[in-house]
Amino acid sequence: MLRPAIRGAARGRSFATHTSSIPRNYPSITPPYPTLIQNLNHVRSVLKRPLTLAEKILYSHLHDPVHGLGDGGRIRGEAYLQLKPERVAMQDASAQMALLQFMSAGLDRCAVPTSIHCDHLIQASDGAEADLKRSIISNQEVFDFLESAARKFGIEFWRPGSGIIHQIVLENYAAPGMLMLGTDSHTPNAGGLGMLAIGVGGADAVDAMTGTPWELKAPQIVGVHLTGSLSGWTTTKDLILHLAGKLTVRGGTGRIIEYFGPGVHSQSCTGLATIANMGAEVGATTSTFPYTSNMRGYLHATGRGPVAQAADEAAGKGFLSADDGAEYDEVIEINLSDLEPTINGPFTPDLATPLSKFGAFVKEQGWKDELSAGLIGSCTNSSYEDMTRVADLARQAKAAGLTTKVPFLCTPGSEQIRATMERDNVTSTLQDVGAVVLANACGPCIGQWKREDKKGEENAILTSFNRNFKSRNDGNRYTMNFLASPTVVTAMAFSGSLSFNPMTDSLTLDSGNRFKFFPPSGQDLPSTGFTPGDTSFYPLPTPEPQPDAEVVIQKDSQRLELLEPFTSPFNDGNLELPPLKVLMRVRGKCTTDHISAAGPWLKYKGHLTNISENLLITAVNDEGGDVNVAFDHDAPSGITETGTIPGVAKRLKGRNQPWALVVDENYGEGSAREHAALQPRFYGCNLIVARSFARIHETNLKKQGVLPLWFADKTDYSRIGSGDMIETVGLVNLLQGHPDAIIKLRVTNREGEIFEIPTTHTMSIDQIKWLHAGSALNHIRSQMK
Ligand code: SF4
Repeated sequence: MLRPAIRGAARGRSFATHTSSIPRNYPSITPPYPTLIQNLNHVRSVLKRPLTLAEKILYSHLHDPVHGLGDGGRIRGEAYLQLKPERVAMQDASAQMALLQFMSAGLDRCAVPTSIHCDHLIQASDGAEADLKRSIISNQEVFDFLESAARKFGIEFWRPGSGIIHQIVLENYAAPGMLMLGTDSHTPNAGGLGMLAIGVGGADAVDAMTGTPWELKAPQIVGVHLTGSLSGWTTTKDLILHLAGKLTVRGGTGRIIEYFGPGVHSQSCTGLATIANMGAEVGATTSTFPYTSNMRGYLHATGRGPVAQAADEAAGKGFLSADDGAEYDEVIEINLSDLEPTINGPFTPDLATPLSKFGAFVKEQGWKDELSAGLIGSCTNSSYEDMTRVADLARQAKAAGLTTKVPFLCTPGSEQIRATMERDNVTSTLQDVGAVVLANACGPCIGQWKREDKKGEENAILTSFNRNFKSRNDGNRYTMNFLASPTVVTAMAFSGSLSFNPMTDSLTLDSGNRFKFFPPSGQDLPSTGFTPGDTSFYPLPTPEPQPDAEVVIQKDSQRLELLEPFTSPFNDGNLELPPLKVLMRVRGKCTTDHISAAGPWLKYKGHLTNISENLLITAVNDEGGDVNVAFDHDAPSGITETGTIPGVAKRLKGRNQPWALVVDENYGEGSAREHAALQPRFYGCNLIVARSFARIHETNLKKQGVLPLWFADKTDYSRIGSGDMIETVGLVNLLQGHPDAIIKLRVTNREGEIFEIPTTHTMSIDQIKWLHAGSALNHIRSQMK
């Protein structure tokens, strides 16, 4: 059944511009500055030292600003903060599980303003209108579920085609000094407006939505001091690509990146958002910037003058920038004048190569000097500034009679950007040189690209997106995906070769003449203002909940399934975990994409049984080195049988045998995908022991009642193998409320040898309660009774 609201979105997509203004509820989008400043004054009386901006925002959002920092001893990197986020945003894929969890908490409305954004489920194939119509039909039941749940609980619902979550948040909800959670790892994009926006799993979002204090281990603060200025081809994208190369994908873990210095103030607000967006690629908790006049300009241009005015007043009281003399845990100096365009990849966002060296790099690697497609846009780089700079290059090329040599796809970040691009002839300029404009959605950035060419073939694409793990864009693991600024992607799409450097090289025209691009120029903001586009995409601000509304889940649905609470392993009163069988030892990089693959699996986000079939299917088994291979040492045949990882996990579940995983460094890096924690738990995993964990994923495991332990001695990793039995020793002390308790693992290997392995953990008092209850949600529900 097509529900009218969603069907209207497809039909209502109009390429005409609309002039009516966007409805706003200013109190709901303006941080409560007087209260925050008062909270900060309490904190100052304890800390008595200059504070960084990130600290000001965090500490002013403490649930208990008077006692929340204890005696003010060492906080950063050590204390656990109980915070009160102001807002939650969820994308359509992660919102399903978040809402299913919220529903089981038994409340009738969200405790904070919340929005849902339908963007990840739109598949890119033939162009905006056709793709949107087809995707709405193929995801109908999910959109119906989300829309009906939004109606019931008073959530702002952004329909398919309205745009990408982070662009919409920046245009509508973000505000200086705000603390927001989003169920997507690129939520930090909103930091471009001088706030803290943190990507979390659905279970954390449920904390904020239920008014439960949200816990965060106080991050360390890295200061990035920006001097000099960007010029020519170099953009803020190049700054973050360069920084990713310096910091690596782990360098930001457990840290907030706070930029400061004169170089901040010369960047556009959307340019800062690009930097904040990609802070996720170095694992940073989030990124932020002091309030600037360009932020003020952006708030006014997006119809939020009253928010700008309130921010001006808060800035006047010193709230929106670091105190003089504030100390950072590390300071990185970057002179923007020294930067050059940078290309990162393939397969990891921290492999940074300056543009001038990229041709030689391609040659050294023995790759074909051939680009197969250029893709621009996404939540990272689809600002008006990005698009007008790209259009400038397209105009230059068109005047020379050039069209792009390879498919050139453009994803606008929002309906407002799409409509403004269209009005200002940016779209037609791009189309004139061969661009295909896709729907305002994630599309190729998240594997939703129905690519017909290069299947299974090695090929290279350039994108202006933010993430480039293997297979992420087109599902082809041989597609080498490089990240660059939109202007570099565009210029290279005209040459079709990877070694082309638009700063120095020229192209040969049909006439035999040579053509060289001038450095691109664009405009930060449209001189005649933004046009909202099709206003039927805009939800009513802070709608009233409709308790009588029915949440639509189709009977026998393969996409949505109500959640059954997990059982606590401690229900029998024994406060050690039951003996656990080791499923496998995972080798090397294991991102949340490896644990719970995206692409075609996205359609099962709301159906735990079905999506669990993808558990770890791209992970490497350290015993043998194969992908998606596990060993069942207790097969009924009496011999060790080989199966897929989810297959063997299911067998263990079928035998009521709880199990454990042994994993390598930075386990669970990448997207904040709570399914990567839910799925192992669903199959019976109670313990994961790692050389190290990525922060968000470690918290997600705790939320689902899986105990994450760290090897005290990393070499112990190789001492445990599949089929070994593990028992915890000392967990009882932790569960009795002693976070300092030491937990050891007693391992009985398959040869019968018994030995103990020391571990460490990061469990806080509250997280211990989640573990005891079997999950955080079980704990929250028990508190509501
Ligand atoms: Fe969508 Fe890609 Fe942005 Fe994620 S990073 S929100 S998938 S556009």
